[in-house]
Amino acid sequence: LRRFFDPLQDIAMFYNSYQSASAALEKLSGVLEERSSVPEPADPLPLPSPTAGEVVFDGVRFGYGGATVLPQLDLTIPAGQTVALVGATGAGKSTLARLAARFYDPGAGQVRLDGVPLDRLADADLRRAVVMVTQESFLFSGSIADNISFGKPDATRAEIEAAARAIGADAFIRALPEGYDTEVAKRGGRLSAGQRQLVSFARAFLADPAVLVLDEATSSLDVPSEVLVQRALQTLLADRTALIIAHRLSTVEIADRVLVMEAGRVVEDGSPAELVGGAGRFADLHRAWADSLV
Ligand code: ADP
Repeated sequence: LRRFFDPLQDIAMFYNSYQSASAALEKLSGVLEERSSVPEPADPLPLPSPTAGEVVFDGVRFGYGGATVLPQLDLTIPAGQTVALVGATGAGKSTLARLAARFYDPGAGQVRLDGVPLDRLADADLRRAVVMVTQESFLFSGSIADNISFGKPDATRAEIEAAARAIGADAFIRALPEGYDTEVAKRGGRLSAGQRQLVSFARAFLADPAVLVLDEATSSLDVPSEVLVQRALQTLLADRTALIIAHRLSTVEIADRVLVMEAGRVVEDGSPAELVGGAGRFADLHRAWADSLV
């Protein structure tokens, strides 16, 4: 049953420490619904090894039981490509991202990873190949080291520290009272929003998935933290496929490809430069974004 970072447990622990019980219940029931809808195949297919990370949406239609949210999605994401998803709230970005991580199965069509339909993959293979990092980068109570090794429980301390170094989190972790053994939830071990993001990036880096699905945090960071997080993001994106629900202009600009979504459809698809130079929605959005930064 454990999938990705065991969201149930993470969310429960996260909310126990930080949020009200009612918010936790809301979140938990949402996750339970999500997870109950995707059975593990009885007869799984092997994933090519090494996994390249090509993701294909082939005639995908999806709705959450009621109205159709994605009417028809045909999309090939070549291995290694960084794709930024942009568009208004409700446009379907998270839905597309969740389908890529098989939180749900499509109502019609297929999502394939290296040619294998996601619903034919064993849970363990899927969990290794596709990692989802969510907005508030759920950290659970436990040490920083435990939090980083969550996607690779057998990781050695040296591997954990190497991941933190690669992501640029090693220096601040060492400066904490008990370094890598600092309890995340304890007072004094409290991390800033930027530090939490770096820890969650180190976790994903250590897990080293072929495909990363990232719902970028919306919390605003001070400029030095922002610079660290953006640099870490570039390290994390190298040599893997990435689908990012992008909330920052700086992230969109480092993408190979931008998909603008509207009402469950991809209405623009191109490199950031192509779309900025065009007369479409992305060009408008980009202008508004740039104005807001002045
Ligand atoms: P975005 O990420 O672009 O804001 P979403 O994929 O979250 O868009 O939402 C697309 C549509 O699906 C919206 O109409 C939203 O209300 C609906 N939706 C999203 N999640 C759920 C859910 N868990 N249950 C029912 N409807 C949902």
